[in-house]
Amino acid sequence: MHGRIAVFPQPGQPFTIAEFPVPEPEPGAIVARVRMAGICGSDLHVWRGETRSAGTAAGHEMVGQIERLGAGVIADSLGQPLSVGDRIVYAYFYPCRRCPVCMRGQFSACPHEVARRPPEEPPHFTSAYADYYYLRPGHVVFRAPDVLTDEELTPVNCALSQVIFGLREAGLRLGDCFVTQGAGGLGLSALAVAREMGARILIAIDGVPERLAQARAFGASHTISLADVPDAAERVRLVRRLTGGYGADVVADFVGHAVVMEEGIAMTRNGGTYLEVGNISPDDAAPFRPQSVVFGRKRIVGVMHYDPDTIGVALDFLLRTRDRYPFASMISHRFRLAEIDAAFAACEWSGRQAGCEVTRGVIVP
Ligand SMILES: [Zn+2]
Ligand SMILES: [Zn+2]
Repeated sequence: MHGRIAVFPQPGQPFTIAEFPVPEPEPGAIVARVRMAGICGSDLHVWRGETRSAGTAAGHEMVGQIERLGAGVIADSLGQPLSVGDRIVYAYFYPCRRCPVCMRGQFSACPHEVARRPPEEPPHFTSAYADYYYLRPGHVVFRAPDVLTDEELTPVNCALSQVIFGLREAGLRLGDCFVTQGAGGLGLSALAVAREMGARILIAIDGVPERLAQARAFGASHTISLADVPDAAERVRLVRRLTGGYGADVVADFVGHAVVMEEGIAMTRNGGTYLEVGNISPDDAAPFRPQSVVFGRKRIVGVMHYDPDTIGVALDFLLRTRDRYPFASMISHRFRLAEIDAAFAACEWSGRQAGCEVTRGVIVP
């Protein structure tokens, strides 16, 4: 049995579809069939060539179905029994559990963490734009509740878990004011999570009208359109006005361009927290004035990945709140694996004059 993997050679060039034999799982491993994979902002950074990842396979946000179980795998990470055919949600990264950072319990900060591997290396299937995904021994896996759709489950292992962990790390509290810079998959999820955590005023900033309309449905009390308020200083004044003159308790970057950082820190109240999640581009830099956090006693919290329990928290959150927020309709466009070039072109929002109508695109292999 063989399976396909989408690999992209160099930015600006089309993906190639490679085929590899599907491995038998070693003891403790799982081979999953990918049911649906999301195109996340991080994937767009890779596609644009902003991350030095040419030649790798791509994709990390997905829901799968157990195809083959390795010896000894009888239950998920919460002890629920697992069988072939079950739908599963899993982390796409592996903290080493053998370093001082992991020993402090800060698994998401492990410097030796491994995620994707070159597709030609066995077990080949370590990325989401593929027919299969290989969960190594030591994986974190959760059986998906039957009532949740593939559309609801796909963003769980990236967007939803990432924002739940990020907002916890940022210390968002009951009665807080929250701003999201960006209302794509992570920004929309963050609005719903922040609202359920007790945020009082929730402001979404974005340039795509469809996303701002969705932001309202995901709990935003106010939206700021980049088209209506093109000046950053004016947006900062607007946020201050909406938050009683002081700025927001927590401001989060879900855009992923360094240019938004100075504006976001200016929107953060004295003593508040700026949460940096979106930016994964090593060469993306912007001017930063340390004085702005010193005089304002502001914290900057960087978050990449999440601790192992987070997916379970995210699944429970979806079960409890799916009637209140349109997670099922967050995905706006579907593509087959063979159409992956068209999928990325459609999802690209950066640098577009005419705008982009995709809120979240997915690949259905
Ligand atoms: Zn992602
Ligand atoms: Zn480690």
